Amino acid sequence: SVAPGVAERLAAYAPTVITADSSPLTAAEREVLAKLIAAARVMDELFAAQACPCWNELRAAAAAVPPPAGEAVRSYLEVNVGPWDRRFDREPFLGGWPHPEGANFYPLDLSAAEKERIQKDPQLSGLQTMVRRNAAGQLVAVPYGRFFAEPLGRCAALLREAAALTDNASLRAFLKARAAALLTDDTFESDKLWMDLDSPVEITIGPYETYEDGLFGFKAAFEAFVTVVDPRESARLAQFKHELPWLESVLPLPDADKNPNRGGESPIRVVDVVFTAGDTKAGVQTIAFNLPNDERVREAKGSKKVLMRNMMTAKFEQILIPLGQRLVAPEQVGDLSAESFFLHTLFHEMSHGLGPGRLVLDGRETEVRLELKDAYSTLEEAKADLMGFWDIQQLAGKGYFEEAQLRRQMATFLAGLFRSVRFGIAEAHGQANAIQFNWLVEQGAVTRDAASGRFRAAPDRFPAAVEALLARILTVQARGDYAGAKELIARYAVMPPELADALAKLDGIPVDIRPRFPLAGE
Ligand code: ZN
Repeated sequence: SVAPGVAERLAAYAPTVITADSSPLTAAEREVLAKLIAAARVMDELFAAQACPCWNELRAAAAAVPPPAGEAVRSYLEVNVGPWDRRFDREPFLGGWPHPEGANFYPLDLSAAEKERIQKDPQLSGLQTMVRRNAAGQLVAVPYGRFFAEPLGRCAALLREAAALTDNASLRAFLKARAAALLTDDTFESDKLWMDLDSPVEITIGPYETYEDGLFGFKAAFEAFVTVVDPRESARLAQFKHELPWLESVLPLPDADKNPNRGGESPIRVVDVVFTAGDTKAGVQTIAFNLPNDERVREAKGSKKVLMRNMMTAKFEQILIPLGQRLVAPEQVGDLSAESFFLHTLFHEMSHGLGPGRLVLDGRETEVRLELKDAYSTLEEAKADLMGFWDIQQLAGKGYFEEAQLRRQMATFLAGLFRSVRFGIAEAHGQANAIQFNWLVEQGAVTRDAASGRFRAAPDRFPAAVEALLARILTVQARGDYAGAKELIARYAVMPPELADALAKLDGIPVDIRPRFPLAGE
């Protein structure tokens, strides 16, 4: 059975060419790029196996759907990497099988006692293990390197071939180390080498984010980004990284909860993406990321913020501007700016590297991620948005930005909330944005004109409201307060009628883009 309207849902993702000017690259670099794209492609296969039990059977079922729905169903299955709609609470659009919260990371028939055991067992809850049953029916943790040995071996071989072709020493060292790490599941050394890359072409590849594990948020999903670096823009933004220790020191949080070791080295790269695969390509497209997530690497070397300029430009033009023209107060529409969208995204990513990370609770060493479990991603995303705005405000006080820039940040922030809530409040980013929207409305920092139904950022209240919610989330994180996190989500990650009304006015505006990558032969 096929849900109605799949063709319309597919159309919400506007097909968009995403590419880069490869003419400044040498012939060797272009050959390297081709190998990296081939290696990245393996991540599509691995992520599908993690996200979706019976992926091949589902593909076969989609292949059998007759016209007129057939083609849209097949494309939508690829967009969602599974038969569940990532925009609508993971409702099935093909077949009636409910989405398994733990995706395919765990057996589908876990008992309550087993769920508890998984949370207490370091192997079963490991970042890079699949949980399966042995012949006796007991739970076992199988490391990714063993579970996915064949495809990872293929991927590693391609990375080594690229390493042999490149004349960039930092890329060569990373590719060799990463090829080994994929099979041993020991990513520490290669993550550190990734931080040091200074090559015109880069790849980010491996198991990273844990959003796909909706049961516990323990398991890392495979993904890849292949990018071409813009060295001039990267240098322009490097000035901000020196301010990160200062920003950490003035966070609205008691000094004892601050983390002076975080964010020491934080390279920033502005890139054009030429190919993505796996987790990041499912549903909504990533415009920036901040990796690695490994707290040991973060304390040793910070984390690298990668801003994908061509993805951002595509979304600003195709979504944010038309959306703002319908929902933002007329006098603030002119404040929507591509530069503000870019800065908000930059500081969102920088903010992931600030605030509580590793914790000591009652003498026990732990991490925010482990304590907040399924609530972690939502709160961390909300924190990064709020702190992103807050950072820019702090830096304006130091003379980096003019007053007018803050006005543009507010309007662009507001339009961005609508853009992200449209992803659906079943998912971390959508939830994070609903929390912020509802809080800002409650505080009078965002007001609605009843006659036009348009929203306005109130400049006199907006900054204080942002800081108050930021302080609240940072405190929950610093205390590892799971109950407090769930309470915030239950109260604010909701869809009040005025928000639903606003979203209903966005008919015809794409929700996101569906990239086509010409350099990958698409
Ligand atoms: Zn984020």
